[in-house]
Amino acid sequence: MLRVLKFGGTSVGTLERIENVANIVKKMRDNGDDLVVVVSAMSGETNKLIDYAKHYSQTPNERELDMLLSSGERVTSALLSIALNELGYKAISMSGREAGIYTTSEYTYARIEKIETANMEKSIKNGEIIIVAGFQGVSSDDNRVTTLGRGGSDLTAVALAGALNADICEIYTDVDGIYTTDPRIEPKAKKLEKISYDEMLELASLGAKVLQNRSVEMAKKLNVNLVSRSSFTPDVEGTLITKEENIMEAPIVSGIALDKNQVRVGMYGVMDKPGIASAIFTALADANINVDMIVQTVGVDGKTALDFTVPVGDLIKTKNAMVAFQKDVQNIDYNEAIAKVSIVGVGMKSHTGVASKAFQAMANENINIRIISTSEIKISMIIDEKYSELAVRALHEAYELDK
Ligand code: ASP
Ligand code: MG
Repeated sequence: MLRVLKFGGTSVGTLERIENVANIVKKMRDNGDDLVVVVSAMSGETNKLIDYAKHYSQTPNERELDMLLSSGERVTSALLSIALNELGYKAISMSGREAGIYTTSEYTYARIEKIETANMEKSIKNGEIIIVAGFQGVSSDDNRVTTLGRGGSDLTAVALAGALNADICEIYTDVDGIYTTDPRIEPKAKKLEKISYDEMLELASLGAKVLQNRSVEMAKKLNVNLVSRSSFTPDVEGTLITKEENIMEAPIVSGIALDKNQVRVGMYGVMDKPGIASAIFTALADANINVDMIVQTVGVDGKTALDFTVPVGDLIKTKNAMVAFQKDVQNIDYNEAIAKVSIVGVGMKSHTGVASKAFQAMANENINIRIISTSEIKISMIIDEKYSELAVRALHEAYELDK
């Protein structure tokens, strides 16, 4: 069996922890598996390097920045390899270049174009454990070191697993899997055994600290079986993220996500004529603002209401972009004290009464729902932020996710 393992920053955060990782790798090797191990930089290291660069420039040359940032992962890959060799195992560290990872030349957020696996295949044949420095590649154009964007080591692991046709890609962090909801909000949250790619993408807020969203998208595209598990409790099985067909009996609802980082923009008395929505959302897109929910109501007397949500961090940019539309609307208000709770599950495609249960749960707690929107596998509600924890617990109970 060929496994790709990825260890995040906390898992390789100290020399002792790297030794712990070496022991996990050793055990797997003893079981006879071929291994490609991807490592992050020690936790905090990438930020420290960015701060170093900022000592000289607030806008460091990005090509040089990538040269600098790629070093963090090279350190941990070499150290892990040294530790494994000392334990008597044949291990070899590889930079992104040596691993054959070719990217675009969009420095600091390069995209992977192709992976030439010959070097790695040769090492695997020689019985070597390959330790790849994550988060980096080399530009196909000008042969320079590139990095893949923050959290990019996950992407390295998934891309290598796809290119090598690995049986599994295991992402190790300090959390032992994906839970039905945030255990800090609902202590009865349960770890999921399996979840589909699409559910995982919708539950991004639950996976934020464990899996980079881009890597889940790539896993879906390349059909890579991903596992989220912990290097601190390596004997505990994690959560498998896989294609829907691999989950025999999917629960109707898999999890409840909470997003408190949105602002609701309410536009009232919007002129009800062709081109208005296009103009508004083009202005937001031009300002690079990621709009989440959009709801427009039926027009009355030539006027309509338009509501949408944007990330809190984009509030100022949004206000600036909306100035141009003041003449077309009676009023625009911004509400930061809201939260989005979402119920996610592939099973809702084929079951009735899923949404009504959510609304009933809110009614029982006397929580007013301000916006409702649904997709095939998700029901989202905008509610007042002060009720968010209560809402999550009520929904968790309503769908019996603790059972
Ligand atoms: N070290 C990089 C970062 O901090 C990449 C990673 O850890 O995945 O973003
Ligand atoms: Mg990470």
